[in-house]
Amino acid sequence: MKQLQTQCCIAGGGPAGIMLGYLLARAGVDVIVLEKHKDFLRDFRGDTIHPSTMEVLYELGLLEDFLRLPHQKLYHLFVKFNDLHGRFVDLTHLPVHEPYIALMPQWDFLNFMTEKASEYSGFHLLREAEVTGLLSAGDEIQGVIARTPDGLLEVRASLTIGADGRSSAVRRLAGLEVIETGVPIDVLWLRIPKEKETRDETLGYFRDGRMMVLIDRDEYYQCGYIIPKGGYDAIRAQGMEQFREGIASLAPQTRAHVAAIRSWDDISLLTVQINHLVQWYRPGLLCIGDAAHAMSPAGGVGINLAIQDAVAAARILAPALSQGAPGIEVLAAVQKRREWPARMIQRIQEAIHNNFINAGEKQLSRNGRGRFFIWLMSHVPLLQRIPARVVGMGFRPERYMRL
Ligand SMILES: Cc1cc2nc3c(=O)[nH]c(=O)nc-3n(C[C@H](O)[C@H](O)[C@H](O)COP(=O)(O)OP(=O)(O)OC[C@H]3O[C@@H](n4cnc5c(N)ncnc54)[C@H](O)[C@@H]3O)c2cc1C
Repeated sequence: MKQLQTQCCIAGGGPAGIMLGYLLARAGVDVIVLEKHKDFLRDFRGDTIHPSTMEVLYELGLLEDFLRLPHQKLYHLFVKFNDLHGRFVDLTHLPVHEPYIALMPQWDFLNFMTEKASEYSGFHLLREAEVTGLLSAGDEIQGVIARTPDGLLEVRASLTIGADGRSSAVRRLAGLEVIETGVPIDVLWLRIPKEKETRDETLGYFRDGRMMVLIDRDEYYQCGYIIPKGGYDAIRAQGMEQFREGIASLAPQTRAHVAAIRSWDDISLLTVQINHLVQWYRPGLLCIGDAAHAMSPAGGVGINLAIQDAVAAARILAPALSQGAPGIEVLAAVQKRREWPARMIQRIQEAIHNNFINAGEKQLSRNGRGRFFIWLMSHVPLLQRIPARVVGMGFRPERYMRL
């Protein structure tokens, strides 16, 4: 079996893993990131880079280069609730360098960060390396075993990071306790063609307890069609025609194009979870990002939260790693710093699930109080700054340099 040695081994090359790898390598730490896929080119990664992330990029001196990549800017978020259509989020007042959400395919962002990370000699990204086991001595984790096209690989490390997303193998192998929050939804993820010339700022469509997100990727819409959890078979049984009609009735501008959805093979079923670890760490190992707290797509904040975790983790871990293996109190400090912001956002996501999606007659847009709330939000611009703060910056935004 091939063997490698490093200071920090990161399982997972998503936003959390790549950002942490970049920051540690920049701080002079030797780091190996193991990513199970051979590229970042997967459709279901989510596309939103929020002001909190761009503030970090600014601080790192990467913002100018980042903004040269093709992207669209969303200064406001519009939402349609049955017959009510309005602006709900106004990001323009945020006290940041770029007060908008940049819509950019996540593979572009990850390729960009990987390119920047490769400028540091301590950064190593191994693709097609799937972590399948942990190395341990007594209670302490000392690295991982990964499956690669060339056979098994052993990576010994002072610290192992689980940044392998919501189905984290690392946290399972480490026996960390997961608390699941029941989520009533799954997402069907598909593309719908559109005219390049039209620009659509409405992101969320709610009607009669159904919901859909449409991300305008210039040449096509990336569509996230929300379905009741476990309801995919029932939707398939109703037939493709009815599914197309469901989309067109939520967003009439797609009606001329839904025929392009030809078969169920064009659609990916993404299971949504909200969960969190009771303890993010054990000796020699720490989980961050979705591996520590799986996020729902509601609010489109998970990528940015994962990046915030990476920033805090790097700030806390880099000095400790330069002295050897970080002690358990250092790993606990990362959880202490990041658990509250993640749990706050998860609670908001739960409220969105319960009040707007699949709530039937109880949904907010169907009762008087709810309709007044929606009307108020869309007519009082000052109120739109509150969700802007939560979506754009999250709670307890991180800076790399702050100690
Ligand atoms: C349908 C859906 C849409 C979403 N849309 C958005 C959005 O628009 N904006 C947003 O901010 N958030 C969105 N989210 C949430 C967001 O995707 C996550 O919160 C975010 O990706 C978490 O980042 P991460 O780096 O922790 O994990 P991930 O992005 O899941 O990355 C984990 C990485 O680890 C790799 N990996 C997994 N297992 C192993 C292994 N055993 N060995 C090696 N590598 C492994 C994976 O291939 C992956 O590259 C969405 C979520 C869902 C379910």
